[in-house]
Amino acid sequence: MMTEITIQPRKRFAQHWLLSEKALKKIVQAAELSQSDRILEIGPGKGALTDRLLPLAAAVLGVEIDRDLCQKLVKKFGRVENFLLLQGDILSLDLETSLAQFPAFQNPNKVVANIPYNITGPILERLLGTISQPLTDTYDSIVLLLQKEVADRICARQNSKAFSSLSVKIQYLAKCEFICDVPAKAFYPPPKVDSAVIRLRPQLIEPRANNPKQMEMLVKLGFASKRKMLRNNLKAVVERDRLSELLEKLRVNPQSRAEDLSVQEWVALANSLEQFLYSGNKVQEKATEVD
Ligand code: SAH
Repeated sequence: MMTEITIQPRKRFAQHWLLSEKALKKIVQAAELSQSDRILEIGPGKGALTDRLLPLAAAVLGVEIDRDLCQKLVKKFGRVENFLLLQGDILSLDLETSLAQFPAFQNPNKVVANIPYNITGPILERLLGTISQPLTDTYDSIVLLLQKEVADRICARQNSKAFSSLSVKIQYLAKCEFICDVPAKAFYPPPKVDSAVIRLRPQLIEPRANNPKQMEMLVKLGFASKRKMLRNNLKAVVERDRLSELLEKLRVNPQSRAEDLSVQEWVALANSLEQFLYSGNKVQEKATEVD
């Protein structure tokens, strides 16, 4: 008797197969697909989501790291014309070069994926860039199934417990929408954590930071110790009294903590601080001249 070779989910690639019809439907709906869309799917796995995407889009490009799964996927979708599979690591693969001979799959305009949770941060950075090096002329939308705790942080509003440096970073780079919760039991094997679907639309917030590098540094420092007031977290960069003045000018309570400021207020603070530091430097220059 022949036994079918089944592939055991691999922990090191964070493999959890999404089985819930309801969750799969929600993800597809959130992507608002049209027949002209070219989709990038990160980690198609055994192809549950791929199967639903293929009939609704012009092209689906799957990037899967696991060689055994790639063989399975080729068996399953090898003959489907609008499917292309690249075996490799989404974090290091050079898509442009790999796709040189496949014009129909170049420049995907949407990302739809149930991502491996162990590399969520690097995937977000790969798709959106960073505050100092944003990538915004990329995708119309990015629909991701990820860890609920991370989804909550990405979509959090100011003054809420989940509002963190990740909220500021991602909301600076994209419009973020929480779509729905997905319980752990929707997967096999169930992950240790609950999950959620989010939609991101890459787009820089307005007004922008005049000095994005500095804004990045400021956000990192500001959230370093969440229980402390901002003026204490930032005292290495700007004197407490001076920061209180700047915050008052922005109509922000000088006793605020990092999570009390909206993303716009963070930008405003970074911009006003830049002017302050700049004039501070000038003062120093003058001082040396006098010396
Ligand atoms: N989309 C499938 C599988 C999700 S699990 C489903 O919904 O059922 C995450 C998938 O990402 C796995 O198939 C895993 O092999 C793949 N993966 C993990 N790390 C990867 C990486 N660095 N690059 C590309 N794919 C990766």
